[in-house]
Amino acid sequence: MAGTDGRLRGMSDVEDGAPAVVLVGAQLGENVGAAARAMLNCGLGDLRLVAPRDGWPNPQARAAASGADAVLDAARLYDDLRSAVADLHHVYATTARPRDVAKPVLTPQEAAAAIRRASARGERTGLLFGRERIGLTNDELSLADAILTIPLNPGFSSLNLAQAVLLLAWEWRRAGSLPSPPRPSAAGAPPATRAQLLGFFDHLEGALEQTGFFKTRELRPSMVRNLRAIFHRANLSEREVRTLHGVVTALCGRRKDQLE
Ligand code: SAH
Repeated sequence: MAGTDGRLRGMSDVEDGAPAVVLVGAQLGENVGAAARAMLNCGLGDLRLVAPRDGWPNPQARAAASGADAVLDAARLYDDLRSAVADLHHVYATTARPRDVAKPVLTPQEAAAAIRRASARGERTGLLFGRERIGLTNDELSLADAILTIPLNPGFSSLNLAQAVLLLAWEWRRAGSLPSPPRPSAAGAPPATRAQLLGFFDHLEGALEQTGFFKTRELRPSMVRNLRAIFHRANLSEREVRTLHGVVTALCGRRKDQLE
């Protein structure tokens, strides 16, 4: 029974539309445990671990979770970030420092409101957190729609990983009691999942590779990131992603004809 089984404690109060918390390459088990605790405090239950440094399960995480065992037990383990976010519709990457990437930078309040609106439409969201030492790489950021930065002292803005999870989980919880402004929805169509969008990126980048678009190997990563940023900003629907697949296929076909 939930009341007598410590492992299930608190999980009945976890909200369905809460964002997933994705910890990428977390180094300290203590931080994973403290993040799980903060999640359950705020009603979040979906913890995803991408290649945690010290493996999984981790006894230090269990100790630091202070009873939020249910979140740890339900945590899912992934080899790479891409598979960890495949089923999500909207992904926000948290960073302490502003990065030189062409993406919108949201405040915690803006992101929390956007997440609430998305879950009201039945869409799934996730928050990405980076490694204690180096945060998220630019390639990892290229998988997100937007950057999310907690505006702290500019001279000392880097939070402990679990504290960053707590602040954003709290902001999301707080937003639940605020009236949410209607979203100006372009098409009203279901948005593409991350897997659909990343499948399109593969198709597009593969086609560009074949046609010699990437002039040098060195330029390729930054060109790929810039291209992805364009499509993230477009907030594509499923149908639009299908159309774009068709466009790439048609252009490749034409090029083949031209070559013949
Ligand atoms: N040294 C790293 C910071 C790592 S802190 C860097 O400079 O990027 C670990 C993680 O906590 C970060 O990757 C980020 O996900 C989160 N975090 C820390 N401070 C934050 C802040 N002010 N705003 C948003 N996320 C933050």
